[in-house]
Amino acid sequence: MSEPTTAPAAEKTRALVLNSGSSSLKYQLFDMRTGERLAQGLVERIGEGPVADHAQALEIAAEELAAAGYGLDDPELAVIGHRAVHGGTRFTEPTLIDDEVVAEMAKLATLAPLHNPANITGIEVARALRPDLPQVAVFDTAFHATMPEAAARYAIDTATADRLGIRRYGFHGTSHAYVARATAELLGTPLAETNTVVLHLGNGASATAVRGGRSVDTSMGMTPLEGLAMGTRSGDVDPGVLLHLARTGGMSTDGIDELLNHRSGMLGLAGANDMREITRRAEAGDAAARLALDVYCLRVRKYVGAYMAVLGRVDAVAFTAGVGENSAAVRATSLAELPSLGIEVDPELNAVRSTAPRLISTAASRVKVAVVPTDEELEIARQAYSLARGPAPSPSDIR
Ligand code: ADP
Repeated sequence: MSEPTTAPAAEKTRALVLNSGSSSLKYQLFDMRTGERLAQGLVERIGEGPVADHAQALEIAAEELAAAGYGLDDPELAVIGHRAVHGGTRFTEPTLIDDEVVAEMAKLATLAPLHNPANITGIEVARALRPDLPQVAVFDTAFHATMPEAAARYAIDTATADRLGIRRYGFHGTSHAYVARATAELLGTPLAETNTVVLHLGNGASATAVRGGRSVDTSMGMTPLEGLAMGTRSGDVDPGVLLHLARTGGMSTDGIDELLNHRSGMLGLAGANDMREITRRAEAGDAAARLALDVYCLRVRKYVGAYMAVLGRVDAVAFTAGVGENSAAVRATSLAELPSLGIEVDPELNAVRSTAPRLISTAASRVKVAVVPTDEELEIARQAYSLARGPAPSPSDIR
């Protein structure tokens, strides 16, 4: 008699990450044993022309994946992780998606009207295609759920705030979590004993005070408009400015929204939202670009100082995202002449271009300054895979 010939069940080691925006769908497929990115792509202009809706976008993504050798029916696919923007106070951890979770996410759409509806559409389409597969929502706000109440509360009437869900939720949490852990690994200190100020400086920008791997304060608030000056967003302004814009400027609510979210920040100050252009123009003597850069860096500097005070002891300041990873000028200006706070950037190390996590502080600098490339998709894959299949390797093991 011959041995039974049933093949062993495929080892499920792959994680697909979907990031569904209002008009785009990004996907990345990882091998969770190695962290290797097996495939990635972007379907754009959903709703305009050939790509009618998210269902069609996911079909296109599935075809592209199949062409790369990994269909959506890939037997090695263990989990689909979805980037979700706003979890409110309801979702503070990666969450296995079921009908109830989708319904709760839909209720939170009033807090993130631009993002949550697109997230949900992406989730529903993916569940319809692979109803058998665990699907996990990883929320941008979740990492900040550990903030003490004093950091999350705005000093406004409590009943009004509670009725409308007004509190600081924070964003970029997946990136801050990833970078805080990678920074501890770079320093060679346990995460639980490492205090870091993480500066995520991309198109959007936020600073987070991380104590022992937990967020204790962050610069973005109820919405991603608060805090640092950004590409097109104002960051902090006196709330009285909004009243003045309405009363004296005669602006509508939508007009103020548009001004502060889309025509402010670097764009409002210097007519360009790309920091490469701002820096180039500032170096060539353009006064508006110089002022924009100074406003940007002063705001970063103020948050670093504030979060050093919040944390008491700081081991590292870590720069990440497009501007933080690439702009030596922003890093140098933001942290210039702070030896009294124990921060000294080494100009030569700061000037080195690299995609590796690295230190750019002097040997004497008490607070280490790090540049740590972020990888939100890998972090989403890791969190989703851990929930579905048990612990995944840490970033340093799989780089
Ligand atoms: P997002 O927030 O959309 O993920 P990124 O983190 O990719 O954005 O950051 C994009 C921004 O990074 C660009 O708008 C640009 O201003 C900035 N950036 C990229 N490369 C450089 C560079 N070499 N110098 C300065 N800024 C840069």
